[in-house]
Parts: sequence; structure tokens; C-alpha cells
Amino acid sequence: MAKVESTETVRTAAPRGLEDSLCYFDGRFVPMAEAKVSVATHALNYGTGCFEGIRAYWSAEREQLYVLKLREHYERFARSCRMLKIRLQLSVDELCATTLELIRQNGYRSDLYVRPLAFKSTPTIKLMLRDVADQLAIFAQPFGNYVDVSSGLNVCVSPWQRISDNAIPARAKVTGAYINSALAVDDALEAGFDEAIFLTEDGHVSEGSSCNVFLLRNRTLVTPPVSADILEGITRDAVMQLARDVLGLEVIERDVDRSELYTADEVFFCGTGVQVSPVTRVDGRAIGTGAPGEVTGRLQQAYFRAVRGEDPRYSSWLESVY
Ligand code: PMP
Repeated sequence: MAKVESTETVRTAAPRGLEDSLCYFDGRFVPMAEAKVSVATHALNYGTGCFEGIRAYWSAEREQLYVLKLREHYERFARSCRMLKIRLQLSVDELCATTLELIRQNGYRSDLYVRPLAFKSTPTIKLMLRDVADQLAIFAQPFGNYVDVSSGLNVCVSPWQRISDNAIPARAKVTGAYINSALAVDDALEAGFDEAIFLTEDGHVSEGSSCNVFLLRNRTLVTPPVSADILEGITRDAVMQLARDVLGLEVIERDVDRSELYTADEVFFCGTGVQVSPVTRVDGRAIGTGAPGEVTGRLQQAYFRAVRGEDPRYSSWLESVY
């Protein structure tokens, strides 16, 4: 993977869609249509890739686009890559700079989702991680809400277990692991739910299919620990900070039983995609009053203010694009 080379295709208007956008691929900014791989690619056959999901928020008031926790995402990306022995040719600083440049070159002025993807690329049948070449791509697209953030989600506890750290490292954001999430969320949708919550192999609450989970019990916020086979969410950290700073809540990381979900005062999900989303039903049981919780609402509001640059206390979370 070479360093950034400038392209001659600098855009004058934002792309009409993903296919019309520029992406970073193998050291250059190229039209999306040119960023192609062979069907024999190792990662396509075996799921040997690492990725990130990063959001950027547009502030119409400030005419500025803010990338949220950019460095934290690339630090996790680098850790995931180490786990899969993917050699990133760009440092975390260079990945951040390349991402900002990619957004600028596309001329985006709206909420965005940015997807970095590093993967084993050699067309080899052999199942190994070492001595397999790596490729890096980063693309970005306009993005709104991933789930409904206002009315409250109706979720189930999934019959699929969360992958355990000794099967596929849960704290690495590796592509193959998302079979686990896809099975759980697809099953949930088939059964009429909006989302699924995984239990660990030993029966404790782990996380949602693409998000971490929090419960409010007696004015204390509780979330499963990093040893519960969760992805160590960046939004999870942000929410814990907001809960302590803005709401003055105690936050505890500890094992959570399934039945605590049913009896919690409030439950919510958090993650880059889902943002902060209230959960109002679990396995057919209403949570609290059955309406989105008051604490969840206040946390969601604090989060949305922070990510759009409206709370100066959290300006260090944001990287300005323009
Ligand atoms: N768990 C899983 C399985 C996820 O895919 C995500 C989304 N990246 C999260 C948790 C939340 O992580 P983050 O807040 O860093 O987006």
C-alpha cells in the first residue's frame, strides 16, 4: 500500500451516490468503479479483513463537517489489523489525514459514514495469515439514521450466541465475524423484531448485533464488561463519559444477566451506526414505562449536541474537515 497520491479527478460537486464517488484504494484516490478485487481474493473467500465504521456530522450552522473520534477509530483499526497480521502501510496519523482528504476530494457537505477496509488480498487457497498481501480501501457515503432513534426499538435476545474470544476475537472488528451479527439481526427481523441482543457462551448479556448495550437500574448505568465478548465500542466510551459528566450518573461495567434486561428501568443501544437508541421492548416485555426512557433521552441529546460541535466540552472528539 503506497502513500497518498493526489488524483486528477478532483470533484466540483458532491457525488450523486457511492458509485459516483472517489475512494482511496491502494495508495490513490480513484473513482469507485476502479476499486475492484478478484473473486479469488483471500478476504472474500475467508473473511480475513478488518474494517471500521466512522461517522461525520454536518453542522449547517457552522458550515462544517465534523468527523467523530477519527483517531480512536484508526487506533482500533490498527489493533484489529495486528490481530489478523495485516500490515498497514499508513500510520494512524496518515490514515486520519487520508480520510479527511478523501472527504474533501468528494466535496461532501452532509452527514457521512466512512468505511476503511484492510484485507488479505492474495488469491491463495491456503488458510494462513502470514505471507499474504494486504490491501487498503477507504470509502465514504452520505448516511442518515441506521435505526429509528426516537420511537424505541423492539428487540429480542438472539438464539445465536456471541462469538467467543477464543473462536474469533470479538474485540477485533474483523469482517468474517459479522456473519454472527448478520445471522442474529436477520433472524430478529424475520421474527418481527428490530434488533437482537447476544448472550455470551456462559449466558450473560454481551451486546447488540452492531452496538453496545446499556441498562439503567436504580439511577445507575450498567453495561457488560470488555470481557463479555463485546466489540469495545468507541460510542460506549463516549456515552460513559457523558453519563458521568453531564448527568452525574454512576456507571458500572459488570456481568449482566438476561433477566436484568426485562426488569431494567431503561435499556438503550449505542454505536457509531445506531448512535444512542432507546430500546422499549425485550422479548415481548415492555421496558420501564414502555416508552423511551428519560435518562436515555437526555444522553441522546447530549450525544447529538457533542457530535455536531454544539458542546465545546467535547470539541476534542471532533476533527474538522473544512
Ligand atoms: N459492537 C459491534 C458488534 C459493532 O459492530 C459496533 C459498531 N462498530 C459496536 C459494538 C459499537 O462500536 P462503536 O461505538 O465503536 O461504533
